[in-house]
Amino acid sequence: MHELSLLEDVLQILEENAESQGYRRVKRIWLEIGQLSCVEPEALRFAFDAVMKDTLADRAALEIVEQPGQGECAGCHRTVPVESLYAPCPQCGHYEVQITEGMAMRVKQLEVE
Ligand SMILES: [Zn+2]
Repeated sequence: MHELSLLEDVLQILEENAESQGYRRVKRIWLEIGQLSCVEPEALRFAFDAVMKDTLADRAALEIVEQPGQGECAGCHRTVPVESLYAPCPQCGHYEVQITEGMAMRVKQLEVE
């Protein structure tokens, strides 16, 4: 389950920020998940509680924001929505679409104290 290692990275970011930004607890966290990142929101919620237990984000509320995939087509040079990694361009059918959005998971916003 790669959600666990992703969340361990998130926790590390939170701990580093806590020092530089001077907060002690994370009360709510908004995580943006790219539609193409293969992260399952349900698995993420489950892993979140386990990873954040007894940390500065223990019992923090998790808000999941899904970000649709997007790419640039090498055929028609348009920015197009991308539903899966190896899908052709919906505009022209070209198979070389450079993914620009929707691959990553990142911390979008935090509520801290
Ligand atoms: Zn195209």
